[in-house]
Amino acid sequence: MVLSLKQAFLKEGFAEEIKSTLNLSDSSPDDPLKDPVRIEGTLKNSAGTVLLTLSADTVLRSVCARCLEEISLPFSGEFSHVIVENLSSEKNDADFIIAENDELDLCELVRSDLLLTIPPRFYCKEDCKGLCSICGKNLNTDSCDCKQEEFGSGKKLSNLSELLNK
Ligand SMILES: [Zn+2]
Ligand SMILES: [Zn+2]
Repeated sequence: MVLSLKQAFLKEGFAEEIKSTLNLSDSSPDDPLKDPVRIEGTLKNSAGTVLLTLSADTVLRSVCARCLEEISLPFSGEFSHVIVENLSSEKNDADFIIAENDELDLCELVRSDLLLTIPPRFYCKEDCKGLCSICGKNLNTDSCDCKQEEFGSGKKLSNLSELLNK
């Protein structure tokens, strides 16, 4: 979705509501943004720049980093950006977004906003037990009889004390 900001830049006092549903998926299997993203916001002319504020709402799709179960996580975020037609020297600031030819690709912007905000890992629940490192069973729903390696086992110590007692 490409917005034309020509009017927004021209008219002092310009204000416009934005309401849309964007499809932001990049079609890769591990993309968390598979679901449509609902956005609502405003474009406002503010002293020659355009102020964009919006909220984005979606359901993230991912897998639990411990047990690999698929999970869906409702997510919403608020974003705002100052958009300029070009960067003059006194506005040389990374916080500005330049609208080339007075156009703004809203999909690209919202996608990068979301990817910067969402957590890098997801868990199905806080105390997810994960998978057994030996048989691979999901320990949240299954149990197994695998003996987990014990480190610093007491056995050697008791052998030692037996020896010492002799
Ligand atoms: Zn899990
Ligand atoms: Zn096991």
